Amino acid sequence: MADCIFCKIAEKEIPSNVVYEDDKILCFHDLDPQAPVHVLIIPKKHIASMDDVQPEDQELLGYIMTKVKDIAASLELENGYRLVNNCGEDGMQTVQHIHFHLLGKRKLTWPPG
Ligand code: 5GP
Ligand code: ZN
Repeated sequence: MADCIFCKIAEKEIPSNVVYEDDKILCFHDLDPQAPVHVLIIPKKHIASMDDVQPEDQELLGYIMTKVKDIAASLELENGYRLVNNCGEDGMQTVQHIHFHLLGKRKLTWPPG
């Protein structure tokens, strides 16, 4: 989608530090890491947010969930990690292309702020 920063990252129009890529998804390091490991997992398909997920996205979203543990293992997050989706204004979503933050390598506090 035009003017979507994560679509541009997926299409390599904007560079990123890639951790994992296949035909459906991309994982890359967050520009402003909030933990020693902080990567973003996105579908290459533009979906604006969790609120915009459609029934036909079930397989794609499920696919992302099956890949999390492999990406976490590749980043040596054997002690645990947190997978986060921010949705909408109250969720503090700043990029309108669905993404999952994968954070680790520090003790993460609960509840989040
Ligand atoms: P949100 O606040 O929408 O849940 O998360 C957006 C995330 O994208 C933020 O953690 C922010 O640091 C990251 N981000 C924004 N622009 C870029 C970019 O151009 N490159 C990378 N690698 N991360 C970005
Ligand atoms: Zn997009």
